[in-house]
Amino acid sequence: MTLDLVLKTGFQNTLLPGNQHYLDPTGRRITGADLFRITASVIVQPADAELYADLERGLQPEHHAGGRPYGLALLEAQQIGIMHVTTPEVIEGFRAGTPLPVGGSNCYGGWPVGQSWEDALPKVTWFPGGEGVLGEYDNAAGGKVTLIEYMVDRAQKYNDRVEPVGELAPMVTYHCDRCHRPEMFDLGEKYQNEGPGDRSWTASKARTHARGKDGKCTPVDDSHMRRVVEQVVSEHQGRTMTLPTRESACSLDGGCSLVRHARAVTANLTDHA
Ligand SMILES: [Zn+2]
Ligand SMILES: [Zn+2]
Repeated sequence: MTLDLVLKTGFQNTLLPGNQHYLDPTGRRITGADLFRITASVIVQPADAELYADLERGLQPEHHAGGRPYGLALLEAQQIGIMHVTTPEVIEGFRAGTPLPVGGSNCYGGWPVGQSWEDALPKVTWFPGGEGVLGEYDNAAGGKVTLIEYMVDRAQKYNDRVEPVGELAPMVTYHCDRCHRPEMFDLGEKYQNEGPGDRSWTASKARTHARGKDGKCTPVDDSHMRRVVEQVVSEHQGRTMTLPTRESACSLDGGCSLVRHARAVTANLTDHA
């Protein structure tokens, strides 16, 4: 792989707090944001055959370079990535300090896709340590849904009951403070966090939940079950025993505690930005 890709120095210092994102009329897809940071500049030579072909597959015919190299700028906001397609000369100029003119029809939603790009692109999180708040949505039924980046032991991504291996992996998920979902072991709502595409996808799941469209936002009433267990245990032990509620358990070591931590980290980073 010979891809000429340069990460912009200090790109993760640009955290764009309060960055407004815009949705399409269905509320499902993010169409833009007020501010983007430039994360990487890329020059794709025709000799990088697989990358060249995978890139071109996603481009409008009028943007095809006809066998000449491409210049790309990869930009991102908290919940969306965009790709600006230009010439290698413009990218070389940008690397030498000329401001990059971004915008117009040669801007595409999302970074390049395909196996070749998956292997070649750097894995980036929004926040420098991979922990922080990416967005917040009002839940139609009340409460809030918060989109966060977090770090977790690689072995415990989808199951916090297994032995840790002592190596952290970046993840992205959301948490709803009405129903306290997803659970720690809810596979479908936690994703590896390797770039704006992963954040975008998780953000759309979070908004679906906030709109009540995934049918999962039902506050869990575990009071009956808790009382039964409490009674059995109390009788057995001969003393009164109370179990934590779902809310307090979540606040202690569940999603609510992840959100609280992400908020603290975000406040700390943006205060010192
Ligand atoms: Zn919770
Ligand atoms: Zn919910």
